[in-house]
Amino acid sequence: MSLPGLASSAIRRSTLRALRTVEASPRWLASGSVASQCFVRGYRPASVTAGQRRALSSTVRRRFASVDDSFDPSTIERESDEVDVCIVGGGPAGLSAAIKLKQLANAAGNEDFRVLLLEKAGELGDHIVSGNVVEPSALNELIPDWNSEDNPNRFEPATPATKDKLRFLTKNSSIPIPAPPQMNNHGNYIISLNQFTKWLGERAEEVGVEVYAGFAASEMLYHPDGSVKGVATNDLGIGRNGKPKDNFERGMEFHARCTLIAEGCHGSLTKKVIKKFDLRRDSQPQTYGLGIKEVWEIDPAKFEKGLVAHSMGYPLPSDTYGGGWMYHFGDNMVSIGLVVGLDYPNPWLAPYGEFQKMKHHPMYKHYLEGGKCISYGARTLNEGGYQSIPKCAFPGGALIGDTAGFLNVPKIKGTHTAMRSGMLAAEAAYDALAGTKDTEGAVFLFDYEEKLRNSSIWRELKQVRNMRPSFNTPLGLYGGIAYSGLEAYILRGYSPWTLKHRHRDHEATKPADQCKKIEYPKPDGKISFDILTSVSRTGTNHEEDQPCHLQVADWDKHAALEWPKYKGVENRFCPAGVYEYVEDETKEIGVRFQINAQNCVHCKTCDIKVPDQDINWQTPQGGEGPNPASRESPTSHARDYQTISHHAVHSPPSNLSSDDYSSPGSDLFSSTGGITIFRATSSLHFGSAESAERDS
Ligand SMILES: Cc1cc2nc3c(=O)[nH]c(=O)nc-3n(C[C@H](O)[C@H](O)[C@H](O)COP(=O)(O)OP(=O)(O)OC[C@H]3O[C@@H](n4cnc5c(N)ncnc54)[C@H](O)[C@@H]3O)c2cc1C
Ligand code: SF4
Repeated sequence: MSLPGLASSAIRRSTLRALRTVEASPRWLASGSVASQCFVRGYRPASVTAGQRRALSSTVRRRFASVDDSFDPSTIERESDEVDVCIVGGGPAGLSAAIKLKQLANAAGNEDFRVLLLEKAGELGDHIVSGNVVEPSALNELIPDWNSEDNPNRFEPATPATKDKLRFLTKNSSIPIPAPPQMNNHGNYIISLNQFTKWLGERAEEVGVEVYAGFAASEMLYHPDGSVKGVATNDLGIGRNGKPKDNFERGMEFHARCTLIAEGCHGSLTKKVIKKFDLRRDSQPQTYGLGIKEVWEIDPAKFEKGLVAHSMGYPLPSDTYGGGWMYHFGDNMVSIGLVVGLDYPNPWLAPYGEFQKMKHHPMYKHYLEGGKCISYGARTLNEGGYQSIPKCAFPGGALIGDTAGFLNVPKIKGTHTAMRSGMLAAEAAYDALAGTKDTEGAVFLFDYEEKLRNSSIWRELKQVRNMRPSFNTPLGLYGGIAYSGLEAYILRGYSPWTLKHRHRDHEATKPADQCKKIEYPKPDGKISFDILTSVSRTGTNHEEDQPCHLQVADWDKHAALEWPKYKGVENRFCPAGVYEYVEDETKEIGVRFQINAQNCVHCKTCDIKVPDQDINWQTPQGGEGPNPASRESPTSHARDYQTISHHAVHSPPSNLSSDDYSSPGSDLFSSTGGITIFRATSSLHFGSAESAERDS
């Protein structure tokens, strides 16, 4: 299909999405995808201007579903395109790899070298949640004038970090503790990673990368010899019952000589590739944390531009790893959040509830009082570090960035390592592919593995490798702090031992009856908020009538397995209120399991933490999920409510007002003990969710 052909396809997808969305915003017109920009604004993407000449495949094979129920979408051949390198994921890793590849190709006069990048978010950056204090080491190499006054396209909204603060919190006080050298942020910048990613995307287009936002890669493709051939995007317009609807559109295949997977933490394709090629054969399992974050606009009198504050201790119990942050950036903006290690044992613990509690601590409350919460997000991050890095190269491609697990936990930074790994993979891939058009035989990036081992990524992760696992000894939090101090100041990573991660995160969860039940305070609607108000601030949206992207083979079996032992742990670990157990006398265990998939914010916690590992997070239709741009301006409670009731399946029944459901002071999760108690009767369940369960 030619580029204009793809443009029309993409714009049609956008149009359909917009029409299906009740609050259709003009955003689709300004979609970040090259294709839609090209079509709508008459804009010539850099991929064209920079000498991109090879057209996408010219066979358009799509078909609208007929009324024939026997029609099987998978029998329709997918249109395909051949590129040199296909990159899955438009975060810092994917974009850095793409830019580096085209820089190398352009410098060698090889402008026809095609680099194509797929991003599931409607716009680059929309699905990225991060602090973010960035260490600019990799960026300085990739785009040396990124911050130069002489560069008209410089990234302007970068606030230099000026002051570090580390505190140990008890319930009402905060005790200063010395920050280890890893947490020194001198020379770093506080940024919005969302904005930075969009800016990086523009730089990628300038050098000729073909950037396609709104395309979720859902399937790995393999050559007959087993090597990776590329990826396919998912079909659009499939109903919840698995049947095509009249807007059905078959996914596309992208065949590449090399496929770089840059999906971020716990990627859905990465999972498959790791399994297929047994990439964890020499490494320990990955472990994770869940980061929950808000951005606030605060009282200018309290704003301390450049402040980077971290905390440990309260509100988390001593058997749970984690900590809070607060970064002051831009004009009176504050990024505040909490990371909770997902190896926490108590199934009554709710990371969302802990975060709401944290904001009421005097250290944080002081800054937030009188301010406005603007946005909300949640995302998992890797905590396994050095011990958990899998083999990163496989026949036909490689893993780059967080999906391989390069985050430095004591620093809470992964942007620079993600970028660096992307650049290293790009160098290895370009060396392997340049000068040959040989498509026979798979490329294997041995050189990338080698470059990684000799890189700063390896050195810095090795140096801090024992810090995170030291919190898993019987000494818990206090032992971990003491040991980490020893590592930071004295051992400096030279210790001859390497501590192991004791278990996978889901294995750490204890039965509910062995743990203390935790009751969370009601939100006050000023500093703390109920979960649906927060979700509405993500602007997340998924079309209701599509196969549930949170795949649970048998919902009843799941409930019978999980409920008696863990009493609704899914309801509490999900930071978006997606999972519920609803009282149901017809069920033997007295409850039924319900998934409100529309609210999902793509954090991936369920896939990691569910005790019996029977939830599989799969990409929903491309372009769906969080859309912070639609929620950027501070909104009233009423408008938040309206949005979510239109967008989400989890909307209250029509005889309940928004005040009944989601008012300041209502329960944090609208639930008690893991069973959702709606304010009227338990028969008032949410219609679409019921049908979702029926059809599953
Ligand atoms: C709460 C939190 C706070 C953090 N704070 C900091 C900090 O202060 N400083 C710092 O340096 N780092 C921080 N990090 C880490 C940093 O965000 C990551 O290390 C960095 O974003 C990793 O980049 P990446 O490109 O590998 O992955 P990501 O940034 O996660 O990007 C992956 C992209 O791939 C897309 N994608 C995924 N799957 C598919 C698919 N199948 N098809 C198409 N697209 C797909 C996603 O939508 C996303 O846009 C933080 C992380 C979190 C969660
Ligand atoms: S459903 Fe899973 S991925 Fe989605 S928000 Fe909840 S825990 Fe995160």
